[in-house]
Amino acid sequence: MSRRPIVAGNWKMNLDRAKARELTAAVAARVGEAGTTELVLCPPAVYLEAVGTTLGAGSPVALGAQNMHDKASGAFTGEVAPAMLVDLGCRYCILGHSERRTLFGETDAVVNAKTKAALAAGLIPIVCVGETLEEREAGRTAAVVTEQVQGSLAGLAPAEIEKVVVAYEPVWAIGTGKVATPQQAQEVHALVRGLLAGLASAAVAAKVRIQYGGSVKPDNAADLAVQPDIDGALVGGASLKADDFLGIARAFGA
Ligand code: PEP
Repeated sequence: MSRRPIVAGNWKMNLDRAKARELTAAVAARVGEAGTTELVLCPPAVYLEAVGTTLGAGSPVALGAQNMHDKASGAFTGEVAPAMLVDLGCRYCILGHSERRTLFGETDAVVNAKTKAALAAGLIPIVCVGETLEEREAGRTAAVVTEQVQGSLAGLAPAEIEKVVVAYEPVWAIGTGKVATPQQAQEVHALVRGLLAGLASAAVAAKVRIQYGGSVKPDNAADLAVQPDIDGALVGGASLKADDFLGIARAFGA
């Protein structure tokens, strides 16, 4: 089963509008270096329009948001609705990032509601899961990831599961410089694929792209990319430099 690799840059709460445009233009100009890899840029919400305009209509580089609300409209001060993201040209939305889960109290139930809302609006959710260091050391990685995958994707039809991108991001590897070994990552990716088979079918699970995230850099991406169940990366820090982001994309799309 061939899955198109997907590398997404999560810019988090970084850059200003001019720098966001500059980085976007640099990535767009060099998209050919990514080979077969699909590229997604996820700027802060306030810069989505600037990044989308810089990419232009029909760009091979996709636009993604970092978060959204699950409701279509209403009295939710400070929130952004799924259709608003679609309106700005977003194709993807990161959901349940560990920073959202830990700092903003997002539970699997919240991530599940957002995942359903994203799909209903025509967005492709990038659903993040991953264990903390404490959980890994307690031998609870599989249990934690199982609960997060099943909880976040509960009630989705197989045709919806097929569209979702899952990002396995061990919390201890995010922004720490400590990347999971390719074997550690592959083991959890295989687990996730098995869980997807249980939620939908083996045929559907074989189509779902599962990204690894956690201190991915150009020099460790190739070893991750050769793993059979690692289909790309969700990249934080290294996505803020065009050279690094494209170097990672190249490793997956070679
Ligand atoms: C992330 O925030 O999703 C991430 C993986 O960050 P970093 O690449 O900086 O570890």
